[in-house]
Amino acid sequence: MSGWNNRGRGSDKALSVDISGADPVVDIAPPSPVPFLDLKKPNQQLRSEILAAWEDILCNAAFVGGRYVADFEAQLADYVGADHAVGVANGTDALTLALRAMGVGPGVEVITAANTFFATVEAIVHAGGSPVLVDVDEETATIDVAATEKAITPNTKVVVPVHLYGQPADMAPLMDLAESRGLLVLEDNAQALGAEYQGRRTGALGHAAATSFYPGKNLGACGDAGAVTTNDPEIADRVRVLGDHGQSAKYEHSAIGTNSRLDALQAAALAIKLRHLDEWNVRRQAAALAYAELLADCSLELPTGRDDRTHVYHLYVVRHHDRHRIREEMASVGIGTGLHYPVPIHLTPPMAHLGHGPGSFPHSERWAAHGLSLPMFPELTENEIRMTADALLEATRGADVFTSSIA
Ligand SMILES: *Cc1c(COP(=O)(O)O)cnc(C)c1O
Repeated sequence: MSGWNNRGRGSDKALSVDISGADPVVDIAPPSPVPFLDLKKPNQQLRSEILAAWEDILCNAAFVGGRYVADFEAQLADYVGADHAVGVANGTDALTLALRAMGVGPGVEVITAANTFFATVEAIVHAGGSPVLVDVDEETATIDVAATEKAITPNTKVVVPVHLYGQPADMAPLMDLAESRGLLVLEDNAQALGAEYQGRRTGALGHAAATSFYPGKNLGACGDAGAVTTNDPEIADRVRVLGDHGQSAKYEHSAIGTNSRLDALQAAALAIKLRHLDEWNVRRQAAALAYAELLADCSLELPTGRDDRTHVYHLYVVRHHDRHRIREEMASVGIGTGLHYPVPIHLTPPMAHLGHGPGSFPHSERWAAHGLSLPMFPELTENEIRMTADALLEATRGADVFTSSIA
């Protein structure tokens, strides 16, 4: 493979988006491999601010709970437009504790999508409930509302739509369905903080939402962290009690809870980073637009948006039937890609007992088999996007020739 510093191969067209601000020295720097994700840059940018807050916490030894946690919770609630936010240890706990707060336990069915990260289903099982899987929409990869309706039984209590890859699920018909059938809706908002559906941010669209601040998420902590956001004061209170050993007051244990609290070091870093989230999401959107322009004429299927919602591109997932070969070609020129997620939930061994074999959820299976996640992070430069697009154009040309020769 040659020509990585030759920008004249199909991607020299002018971009309608200006992403040049991301890297002023891009044109004199030698081409370098493109990482799938670079978590170092935002920390460099915010280093002194975060360290100052951490020094304050060290001096005052207020490590769990306290002012930094309360301030971040208020800031997060305000950001998503919810009345309450409760910090917990990670996104999986946020889902689990919210499900328990909604009354999920043995014998209770919780419906969710077959194409998601495994933690969504793990949380249902940890809460004591029974996961019921349904397929996703072919184009948006978010929960199929008609399929959800068919999966409702007298034991169904909660539906968990996942705002997968950064795009909100179709919440309006889902909330209508939930209302008419007496169900609760818990948004899995781990990938879409800042995305909007019909003008409102995710995290306050359902009865509650669970968010993850795993470092690789759009708003990432410096370690593990998560939160539940909700307009329901009872759910908020129960999550807080369950995450603090079931204590409604000191040594008043009203339930078997667990230890899942947000620590001050994470809260302080998150509060600083949350102020940059919109700007970072806008950069992700600009990168996505650039990819879409540069890749418009090749055989990749590109992510599709919807007019009534925004996409914050936690992941930019394209699809191609020959993605493994494309992925290897990208890797050979130093461009990182990812697979999200290569095995749909129903085909993982711990979920085999549900009895859904291959072919059960064709859209989920197609996303799992064809999806390829391109480099995506706010500091991605125009040059990195062009190099990635060039490599993809080259690789798909090869794949298409190969396919037509065996067809
Ligand atoms: C990351 C993620 C989770 C779990 O969050 P953790 O903080 O890693 O526990 C749950 N659901 C989805 C969709 C995720 O992407």
